[in-house]
Amino acid sequence: KQRDPDQPEFHQAVEEVLRTLWPFLEENPRYMHAGIIERMVEPERVILFRVPWVDDAGKVHVNRGYRIQMNSAIGPYKGGLRFHPSVNLGVLKFLAFEQVFKNSLTSLPMGGGKGGSDFDPKGKTDNEVMRFCQSFMTELFRHIGHHLDVPAGDIGVGAREIGYMFGQYKRLANEFTSVLTGKGMTYGGSLIRPEATGYGCVYFAEEMLKSVKRRFEGQRVSISGSGNVAQYAAQKVIELGGKVISLSDSGGTLYIEDGMNGEHWHYLMDLKNVRRGRLQEMAEHFALEFLPGQRPWALKCDIALPCATQNELDIDDARTLIKNGCICVAEGANMPSTLDAVDLFIEQGILYAPGKASNAGGVAVSGLEMSQNAMRLLWTDGEVDAKLHSIMQQIHSACVNYGMENGRVNYVKGANIAGFVKVADAMLAQGIV
Ligand code: NDP
Repeated sequence: KQRDPDQPEFHQAVEEVLRTLWPFLEENPRYMHAGIIERMVEPERVILFRVPWVDDAGKVHVNRGYRIQMNSAIGPYKGGLRFHPSVNLGVLKFLAFEQVFKNSLTSLPMGGGKGGSDFDPKGKTDNEVMRFCQSFMTELFRHIGHHLDVPAGDIGVGAREIGYMFGQYKRLANEFTSVLTGKGMTYGGSLIRPEATGYGCVYFAEEMLKSVKRRFEGQRVSISGSGNVAQYAAQKVIELGGKVISLSDSGGTLYIEDGMNGEHWHYLMDLKNVRRGRLQEMAEHFALEFLPGQRPWALKCDIALPCATQNELDIDDARTLIKNGCICVAEGANMPSTLDAVDLFIEQGILYAPGKASNAGGVAVSGLEMSQNAMRLLWTDGEVDAKLHSIMQQIHSACVNYGMENGRVNYVKGANIAGFVKVADAMLAQGIV
């Protein structure tokens, strides 16, 4: 905190891990002696660069680009790129730190990284986005590579942005390699990658529910966000017979009292991915209720899936959810719940899954995309989905193994210790580097 006083999100992420990890470290002093924690909280490398670009009117803009190469103990750096005005060094360090544990939990050989820019793709034309992505990659390309660092998408970076960045990388590096994941299906993408984070989050929640003999069927499910993760979480919940009663964006919450149906879902996909419009329009189109400026947590639900952004669910939201009978919270987003909200969920015996466990499906399928690229093969959607499902079940088991506490699973403790052990053991084996 003294070294980087202006990085509250990073401090929050580290505190969440250390609170549950500390007793384990005291029982296993070899990790303390080797300075594992001191090394894990310091990125191996931080790259910060200027991204100049020209808008359609000929005006020059300058954004800031970043790549945090956090930890490469168990594999090449891997983690998304975020384009959002709120991006800064502290936000990306929190995301990169979380990514190290998450990637380890997938059991695939991937280190942790994260990057992005304070560029806002909202309201920009396709040509402006393309010029920005090309300028961003013109600097980033010299720092990444398929054996070194393999970025992917995140908030504000979807199929369009990955395509533009891949094109520019290929041109500059003069080679066609698996340097980005989340690629389109015509140039090396994996089936089920777009669905993976949302589906994976629902698969994880399903495992938690099974442990208390509950199912999605007939449950009221509140989802926040309406981007990539929220869209496919909603689709899987509907498929499992659950009722999706909300979605949200930065304008507010869409309330769907009777639950989302197939027609709503297809409209949403076109609205957000093709027309790039607002949920308010969806409310007007279907005559649904829209709650401007509000988050969905005051709506009565059985299961909550926060899928928008960090710190979007605070202690008051947690109290309201519990009062309204919510029994399960599985995070699709990264660190959407504040620390005190997490404490309350655990104290009250809510089935609570931290993002690093429940949203690991996206990076897991990114890992599978790298494997398919390396083999020059394409697995079927059924094959990838089955592997994703099995990875989410394994992560759930790992959390149960390490997280048992007074007859209940503390998923935060389980995920943190299980994620830590593999990385820490690899760091021990590789010496002080
Ligand atoms: P998208 O850009 O596709 O969607 C983000 C959604 O969250 C949009 O509905 C957006 O609304 C909303 N949102 C973002 N920032 C804010 C904000 N500050 N206030 C209110 N609403 C906001 O991103 P993804 O769906 O890919 O990512 C969502 C979350 O999931 C992030 O936390 C991300 O890190 C995490 N995640 C994503 C993975 C992936 O594979 N995509 C993998 C693992 C985690 P609006 O459009 O109005 O801004």
